[in-house]
Amino acid sequence: MSQEWNIKSRGHVCSICQKPLVDKSPVVSVLKALPDGYERQDCHPECWKTNPRDWEPFSQWEGVYQAPPPPDARKEPLKKETADELLRRLISLDDPAMKNVVYVLAVMLERSKILVERDAREQEDRTIIRVYEHRKTGEGFIVLDPRLRLENLADVQQQVVALLSGTKTLGEVSAGEENAQKNAEEKK
Ligand SMILES: [Zn+2]
Repeated sequence: MSQEWNIKSRGHVCSICQKPLVDKSPVVSVLKALPDGYERQDCHPECWKTNPRDWEPFSQWEGVYQAPPPPDARKEPLKKETADELLRRLISLDDPAMKNVVYVLAVMLERSKILVERDAREQEDRTIIRVYEHRKTGEGFIVLDPRLRLENLADVQQQVVALLSGTKTLGEVSAGEENAQKNAEEKK
């Protein structure tokens, strides 16, 4: 289960030639599957095209590189920051009971145009690994899509809202989700 959720920040130099990426210019981002996770590479499109390699990327997309803004421009309206901060925290906790919450939060961030989906890979058990990129920071979020059933979606959305509004703690939601998933298993 671990390593299915992951955050990969965008590099500021080309992974191939090691020269800086150029502000507002195209960049090729790839994820390379390693035995214990994924390695992210960001490259000049020319370098990616011309550099020979003996491996196939797990995932590949083209974006536009944006240089980091000066520190005082990084202050965002609090509410937007909270949702993507929560996603980072959940991903770094890597709690299997929270898989549905992580996925629904990522979808909410995609709908509010904070994240953009870059790739989706179906796995043998029909779950999907989705790769999202943060539009502003360029971070890549690797999120497991557990193929939630529609009848469970509203419950999970309520948990996300409770976390965002601070009416429930992460521990409370995690315990509730664990029970809900156990009950769903028993019903099968
Ligand atoms: Zn390069």
